[in-house]
Amino acid sequence: MARAIKGGRPMEFMMHRKKYVKKRDITQYNSSTGKFHCPNCNNGYGRRDTMLGHYRYECGKAPRYKCPYCNLCSKKTSNIYQHVRCMHPKEQVTLVKLY
Ligand SMILES: [Zn+2]
Ligand SMILES: [Zn+2]
Repeated sequence: MARAIKGGRPMEFMMHRKKYVKKRDITQYNSSTGKFHCPNCNNGYGRRDTMLGHYRYECGKAPRYKCPYCNLCSKKTSNIYQHVRCMHPKEQVTLVKLY
């Protein structure tokens, strides 16, 4: 049994096993519903982009926009605009940015 010994030291073997790192895809596509689900709240979205937009900007975050005429808050500007047109038809269609 001849062991390879260099310089009196035992040869070091490469012990690094290839780590099996599964790339964790945050887009949880559910084939049974045909939707992409948010990994946080499990809301289903028809499009991956929509889900990612929700995940990055909406999910778990406080609403950023507020109706200037009442206390309604929303995470989406479009919701406020729609609300103002509907609920405050005589007012200017605008919104308040909370932050
Ligand atoms: Zn979510
Ligand atoms: Zn309002």
